[in-house]
Amino acid sequence: MRIAVIDRDRCHPKKCNYLCVSVCPLVKTGTPTITVEEGKVFIDENTCIGCGICVKKCPFKAITIVNLPEAVGTPVHSYGRNGFRLFGLPYPGEGVVGILGPNGTGKTTALRILSGELVPNLGRENTTWEDVIRFFRGKEIQGYLERLREGKVRVSVKPQNVELIPHLYGEKKVSELVARDTLEAFGLKHLENRKVKHLSGGELQMLAIAAAYSKKADLYFYDEPSSYLDIKKRFEVAAKIKRNYTLVVEHDLAVLDYLSDQVFIVYGKPGAYGIFSGIKSVRNGINEYIEGYLREENVRIREKEIRFEGGVEESGGRVVMEYGRIKKKLGEFELEVEPGDVREGEVIGIIGENGIGKTTFVRLLSGEIEPDEGEVEEVRVSVKPQYLFKRMEGTLEEHLEDKDLARELDVEHLMDRDLSTLSGGELQRAAIAICLSKKADVYFLDEPSAFLDVEQRIRAAAVIRRRIAETGASGFVVEHDFLFLHHVSSRVIRFSGAPGRRGRAHSPQGLREGLNEFLKELGITFRRDPQSGRPRANKPGSQRDREQRKKGVYYMG
Ligand code: ADP
Ligand code: ADP
Ligand code: SF4
Ligand code: SF4
Repeated sequence: MRIAVIDRDRCHPKKCNYLCVSVCPLVKTGTPTITVEEGKVFIDENTCIGCGICVKKCPFKAITIVNLPEAVGTPVHSYGRNGFRLFGLPYPGEGVVGILGPNGTGKTTALRILSGELVPNLGRENTTWEDVIRFFRGKEIQGYLERLREGKVRVSVKPQNVELIPHLYGEKKVSELVARDTLEAFGLKHLENRKVKHLSGGELQMLAIAAAYSKKADLYFYDEPSSYLDIKKRFEVAAKIKRNYTLVVEHDLAVLDYLSDQVFIVYGKPGAYGIFSGIKSVRNGINEYIEGYLREENVRIREKEIRFEGGVEESGGRVVMEYGRIKKKLGEFELEVEPGDVREGEVIGIIGENGIGKTTFVRLLSGEIEPDEGEVEEVRVSVKPQYLFKRMEGTLEEHLEDKDLARELDVEHLMDRDLSTLSGGELQRAAIAICLSKKADVYFLDEPSAFLDVEQRIRAAAVIRRRIAETGASGFVVEHDFLFLHHVSSRVIRFSGAPGRRGRAHSPQGLREGLNEFLKELGITFRRDPQSGRPRANKPGSQRDREQRKKGVYYMG
């Protein structure tokens, strides 16, 4: 089945004066294949011959013709004509069920259905609950939907965008939102008298997770619980929220793996259609996703496999920048930096808890602030800061001339947009592109994976690594996504200390050695998956975990 899909975000009919309507050969012969209603264009999928003329002419790349595999059959839901279609549904069960897939493929839509907020329409008008139950008869989810219809399901949700919470509860104190014992269980006791509007991103995330966890419900849903959290907190949270009937959408693959017992993969074309796979064991599911091929469904979801060679050990190239022992005090906080260097073509990953001085280190090395003691060599730098929202004005085109980077990071269609109008993920990709497009000796990227889905993370990591290798510059990347870090870095700088009080940036170490010491401090062991080569966190207390601990091999034993 071929279907035409119009991305409403990209379609600006007033700017192009309905160009697609005037070029369609069928419209020219009198068939209303593209019509205009209430200022919007619609394509009649029954008469469209898929010639692709409109697709080519559209100045904003708003139309795509997609080939839908015949096998997927009736959609569970569609948002009207030419709108997004969802096939299949994930369902909760024993243990934690993870959902893995790109943004725009229907994860939120599925959740709205599972929580009873949206009654699925099976892609047609006048659908009733009876039709829906009949459609799912004999499937595992049938019983759940029956209870849902009777209003017997209570759902507790941790929403995706925790930065919106202060708009609703900014003046409230933390203790007014969550009970004391829950605050204690989630390590938030010290914040009980703080107003919500004064919380950091990581603190808001922890509060939202604690609130969702403490409600009495039949289904728990956590939408991207790891955003804003450091590696340590990500794994702590993953261990805490485990219980039956929990669904989690998560783009940090190491965390998803650690947290989930089983997974659903969602694939398709973002904005056009999404298909939920059958349920898979977490190991097979993630491996099939990485391989780009779903076995039981017999579909290829990506042309190429993602490779985890990781750990291109030290480049041995020319030193691009050197720094000595540095000290810096900011208010109550003291940072000590051990000497180091960065070499041609290499990326150094920076890992550590929040509040331990990573950003301060970047600001010192990039020359934004002066050290109290010690010296930093002056070089040309380009920086992508962690917080993007307030800092960027103008259109993307005004900031970014490099068309290749725009294509590689999938922001070509956003060139004429004001940066202030972009979504989190769009802005992140734009900011990475802008940073890399500037001529510099050293690039600093602070949390490039934030707001990106798995596919976008993999792509961004590859672009950063390739660009820096090709230009012979070097880079520092602050990151909490373990697989991103593994993918992008050849060496790491590990931070230790006490968050908010003192931090120590260790000298750069080989990836393996550095991550081993870092994980030892966290008390988490990782092994290498024999099939995909990716690092996998061991379940705490498992035989593998105990063996590796005993040997002191925390990373990839
Ligand atoms: P995800 O959570 O995977 O990012 P969503 O379920 O939010 O995906 O959205 C999938 C697609 O459905 C998107 O292209 C979105 O634009 C579209 N969509 C979501 N809600 C609506 C709606 N109420 N009306 C029309 N289209 C919608
Ligand atoms: P990270 O990037 O690892 O989260 P930061 O370098 O941003 O850590 O901050 C480390 C500590 O220094 C934090 O406790 C922060 O509040 C404090 N800090 C950062 N900048 C200043 C400043 N200008 N004045 C006072 N304290 C600061
Ligand atoms: Fe114009 Fe493209 Fe929208 Fe058609 S789909 S009205 S050509 S922007
Ligand atoms: Fe018309 Fe061809 Fe576009 Fe279909 S693909 S709407 S037939 S121009």
